[in-house]
Amino acid sequence: MEVRTRFAPSPTGFMHIGNLRTGLYAYLIAKHNGGSFLLRIEDTDRSRYVEGATEFVYRTLKDLGINWDEGPDIGGSYGPYIQSERKDMYLPYAEELVKAGKAYYCFCTKEELEKRRADVEAAGGTWKYDKHCADIPYEEAKRRVEAGESYVIRQNVPTEGEASFDDVLYGHIAVDCSELDDMILIKADGMPTYNFANVIDDHTMHITHVIRGNEYLASTPKYNLLYDAFGWEKPVYIHMSQIMRDLHRKLSKRDGDANYEDFIAKGFLKEALLNYVALLGWNPGDEREFFTLEELTEAFSIEGLSKSPAIFDPQKLTWMNAEYVRKLTPEQFTAHAMPWYELAGIAHMDKEVLARILQPRTEIFGNIPDMVDFLTKLDGEYPTELFTNKKSKTDAEVSRKVLDMAIEALDGLSEWTEQGIHDTLLSLAEKNGMKNGTMLWPVRIAMAGKQVTPGGAIEIAVLLGRDEALRRLRFGRERLG
Ligand code: GLU
Repeated sequence: MEVRTRFAPSPTGFMHIGNLRTGLYAYLIAKHNGGSFLLRIEDTDRSRYVEGATEFVYRTLKDLGINWDEGPDIGGSYGPYIQSERKDMYLPYAEELVKAGKAYYCFCTKEELEKRRADVEAAGGTWKYDKHCADIPYEEAKRRVEAGESYVIRQNVPTEGEASFDDVLYGHIAVDCSELDDMILIKADGMPTYNFANVIDDHTMHITHVIRGNEYLASTPKYNLLYDAFGWEKPVYIHMSQIMRDLHRKLSKRDGDANYEDFIAKGFLKEALLNYVALLGWNPGDEREFFTLEELTEAFSIEGLSKSPAIFDPQKLTWMNAEYVRKLTPEQFTAHAMPWYELAGIAHMDKEVLARILQPRTEIFGNIPDMVDFLTKLDGEYPTELFTNKKSKTDAEVSRKVLDMAIEALDGLSEWTEQGIHDTLLSLAEKNGMKNGTMLWPVRIAMAGKQVTPGGAIEIAVLLGRDEALRRLRFGRERLG
């Protein structure tokens, strides 16, 4: 049988990392087995609908190469793939259940429900729907519906016995029916609830494996009662544990950095994010850590999934991202770095030199502006003690001499090229019997005003350009008195 999985996001805004992981795993299970991966948009909860969110889902998945075989934009044999466009398909199924006594029309108004809930709660009880309408004879209920009375359709859960299902990761999950609520299947506006739509859709779309978050673990026994009522075959269920910030807290949207696009905006590479997310809840069974999407597809197996909560470790992600950054060609590095160069005001500087000094040190592209802040502004108050360095054998005295010579020689340089600057400074050192380091240290301190910089004196001189480099050298010389 063909493996068919689906990703069923609700268009409520951004792409949470946990959601992305669910979609990725659904994709990998299908593709590893040569099956089909479907995209279904679950937009029946109109109150949570966010304009543009569906396009956003498309863009994110496409960006990552997680391509779907059937979906709203490309169609397929079991469409439509947007729940609101399937609206008319659900009612006949619900009515079939009503006829079989597995569901019923409910006419309770909001006020009546609230009143009865308050009474139960005042008496210290926990409210669940009290089957008030379950006993209305079918003919009577039908008449009221036809007369235009407002209604919902509720599942008629048995009052005793057990509802259960088997989850690949969590094993056998059973609940007492007495604990289950008669959930609404069709709402007063005619829309199905998620609880109903997911069952109808998964069945009619021939889904074989349902992969989703474990927040649905508790409801799945109820869904299975529906499968039983229809006499349908159940899918394989794989519920994934939550992604945690730490041992106690979920990675939450409210923390502001749980969304795919937050990480992209901070300058993480999508390939690194995908790789990291894939390992949050799955491991290949060996030591490998680096995977492209193709490699994941090849290596993925359901057996490698884990139900223990995965802790999202920003440091590990940062490390992984740095590894990906190092693997870029200098041209690719520059393309990714460009927006950050612009932000830092260094987009006009020599790209080849920038890539050379920054690529080995960049963990996240968003760190670039901080790494190069000295290129656009010199902290004029930097301590002159910086000129003193044991290893380079420099002190204030030596630095005065070096700067005098360097300023004169560089000022006379006809072309401000890396080679030219290099040859000028190094031949000066040689002529004066100095170590290269003795020459270069004061020059770099004067140009950067700090001890630790990406790049050396010559590279920084190229980046600054003749005028600014000379201005800083003269300023440094003045500060040394
Ligand atoms: N629309 C649901 C969600 O976004 C999907 C649940 C499912 O996959 O069944 O959480």
